[in-house]
Amino acid sequence: MSTLTSTARSLTDKVALIQGGSRGIGAAIARRLAAEGAAVVVTFSRSPEQAAELVRSIEASGGRALAVQADSADAQAVQDAVAQSVARFGHLDILVNNAGILALAPIETFSLEDFDQTLAVNVRSVFVASQAAARQMGEGGRIITIGSTNAERMPFAGGSVYAMSKAAIVGLTRGMARDLGPRGITVNNVQPGPVDTDMNPANSEFADSLKDLMAVGRYGRVEEIAAFVAFLAGPEAAYITGASLTIDGGFAA
Ligand code: NDP
Repeated sequence: MSTLTSTARSLTDKVALIQGGSRGIGAAIARRLAAEGAAVVVTFSRSPEQAAELVRSIEASGGRALAVQADSADAQAVQDAVAQSVARFGHLDILVNNAGILALAPIETFSLEDFDQTLAVNVRSVFVASQAAARQMGEGGRIITIGSTNAERMPFAGGSVYAMSKAAIVGLTRGMARDLGPRGITVNNVQPGPVDTDMNPANSEFADSLKDLMAVGRYGRVEEIAAFVAFLAGPEAAYITGASLTIDGGFAA
């Protein structure tokens, strides 16, 4: 197995917290940021085994990692995860707000419970974690949220509340960028299109209905989103802030 020490790495000595990092896009982001030299903390709610395995594999490659159980709907747990990141690795430089849920139902039947849970995980946790992280970060800090191209385009039924939650991130990102820009902290929103994960498997019937909507005619891979996030987290992206950046194979084109 190759080690993480051989090549020039953009995130050496940085500490990153990935909210919702046990599976899917978040786990790929954790692996990539660790490969770039960052110590990574991943939170999870229901997947302790996957989170522990991720930590083991990063450590086996010479990286530093920690998994913390923290339901993103629980503000205190999210704040504690930020505090634990600093306690374990000494500082916090990068926050990736990745935890998200997708509840689909027509507006006539969408439950209030699912509405509240979607807002709690997809929006409120971004505010809570960003606030706690911003208090810890210094010059060069990075806050990156995983939104969705559905903030811009919702071409199927049942996604109204999900689209609303991801559109909320567009505004929150702009405002936080204004607040934190003077301190040298950037805030950006990465908007993936369909990406092959547990949330949206590329081999489902639903996936077949979406493939024609992408200019490139295929689902994205988690590593493609992670590479984009790693760039935004690095020193070369210091002039990008307040932006909602779509990476969707042309889904919204
Ligand atoms: P998955 O469902 O595959 O993984 C979700 C991750 O978020 C898991 O690590 C999960 O951890 C964590 N998570 C979910 N709910 C909570 C919670 N309440 N508290 C803490 N962690 C939580 O999703 P994806 O990887 O596909 O999606 C990641 C992000 O990307 C989401 O914000 C999603 O909206 C967005 N996105 C995904 C697209 C896709 O096509 N896949 C397209 C566009 C955007 P655990 O298992 O422990 O709960």
